[in-house]
Amino acid sequence: MTHPLAIITGGAQGIGRATTELLLKEGWRVAALDRDAEAVAELDETHPAATLLTMVVDVSDELQVKEAFFHLSDWQLENDQSTGVDLLVNNAGVADPVCGPIEELALADWRIWQESHLTGAFLCTRAAVPGLRQRRGAIVNIASTRALQSEPHCESYAAAKGGLLSMTHALAVSLGPDIRVNAICPGWIETGPWQKASQRNTPAHRAIDRDQHPVGRVGEPADVAATVAFLASDKAGFITGQHISVDGGMSKKMIYAE
Ligand code: NAD
Repeated sequence: MTHPLAIITGGAQGIGRATTELLLKEGWRVAALDRDAEAVAELDETHPAATLLTMVVDVSDELQVKEAFFHLSDWQLENDQSTGVDLLVNNAGVADPVCGPIEELALADWRIWQESHLTGAFLCTRAAVPGLRQRRGAIVNIASTRALQSEPHCESYAAAKGGLLSMTHALAVSLGPDIRVNAICPGWIETGPWQKASQRNTPAHRAIDRDQHPVGRVGEPADVAATVAFLASDKAGFITGQHISVDGGMSKKMIYAE
């Protein structure tokens, strides 16, 4: 039986891990690429090898991405007799947005965010497009509300995420009608132990952290994972080139000092 296939970068932890788990639960096969070997080994234990392929890959490294996609094709042919891809989630990247004051930002440090978020998304998209065309698949880029608004000293992260939004609409126009391409802008998503819905009422957050959100809580990785699943589904068949904020309404709140 053919299962839909998703490739998830940064798929071993946080938002990527929640997306991996949700899609596996919904009957997908998942290839999770992540540079953190320990997290990859831990994820690898959780599902049978025919369902979940894990690979230690730095998505900003051209050769590593090329080798990973070769390995993926072999795994697909073995398990599915097909090299089609239904979904690519470009999620990997350095999640800490603070790069420090611009006057002190070294070029090498600027590149950490550009390479992990933007170059990684480019390399994985380029490698995945032939398979995505076969299945009329979808791409979901994980950007950030910081592509649209800022705190101080986050220039490289903001620029990389803004670049991802622009790449999203550019790709949507280039790859349609075969492939839909959308982005998600998460707000504050707690990727620590608080992420479980069962712990929703006992978070390690201050009341002000929760209450400032129009929905009354900070986000969980599952909030983003559910949006990825929606954008990958036929229900989103008329949506491409867009970004959707998953931020509990924070970016719609007007804030003036009292
Ligand atoms: P996380 O650190 O928990 O997970 C990111 C994963 O990506 C890690 O497993 C890490 O090893 C991997 N990774 C980083 N660089 C990589 C590279 N070059 N190659 C391969 N793997 C790499 O972070 P998260 O909070 O789950 O963030 C996931 C995505 O969501 C990121 O793109 C982040 O910028 C974005 N985001 C997160 C939040 C939030 O509040 N958590 C908000 C907005 C956007």
